[in-house]
Amino acid sequence: CGIIGYIGDKEAQPILIQGLKRLEYRGYDSAGIAVIDKGKIDVFKCKGRIANLEEKIKFSKIHGNVGIAHTRWATHGEPSDINAHPHLNQKGNIAVVHNGIIENYLELRKKLAEKGYTFLSETDTEVIPSLIDYYYNGDLKEAVLTALKELKGSFALAIMSKDNPDEIIAVRRDSPLVIGIGKGENFIASDITAVINWTKDVIIIENSEVAVVKKDSLQLMDFDGNLIEREPFEVTWNV
Ligand code: GLU
Repeated sequence: CGIIGYIGDKEAQPILIQGLKRLEYRGYDSAGIAVIDKGKIDVFKCKGRIANLEEKIKFSKIHGNVGIAHTRWATHGEPSDINAHPHLNQKGNIAVVHNGIIENYLELRKKLAEKGYTFLSETDTEVIPSLIDYYYNGDLKEAVLTALKELKGSFALAIMSKDNPDEIIAVRRDSPLVIGIGKGENFIASDITAVINWTKDVIIIENSEVAVVKKDSLQLMDFDGNLIEREPFEVTWNV
């Protein structure tokens, strides 16, 4: 139900947790974070409050400057630790958080299972990292654009790969998503309130757009990869 992402030079984890708290008002049943740490993706997620997640990570040394986090409102699969996001493919190289519903996930799951992919959760979301991995050839954006052609339904996504640690891919079809533009850092969030603590410069991702977010650049495009120009606007209110 809520997405937050960070890429920059700071430790991602405290920013992600704070962002999740800003999104709490949207309602949720589980929460989780994933951070890229020296060539691997560390994931912590659990059913229940963000406070439970904080308790779970209290003694874990989560280090990394790139991460994504999620509050889940279950649509497919009960609220549980395993069904909480982020979801990874089996190899653990690609992590995805998702708001919305993948309508054709059973069909995709079957197709991927035939190619040897396995799944741990009952969610519609879990097919996404495997589908991206299936098309992955070193270029994360290209793999995402190809995978998108097969996804039916509504979604906001934040995607990262341990093999492309300088970028997060954000995708929007129907569910809202914004980018907060910082200095040498950028933020991805389901709404403006989750980023205005850190920056007032915001770009709204419109429907059927993809953003390639790096710490000091942002590329917006449509689902065919055609580039889109958009200037940030300045938010004039506080929370
Ligand atoms: N359909 C996904 C799930 O049930 C995402 C739900 C949400 O938007 O939080 O895991």
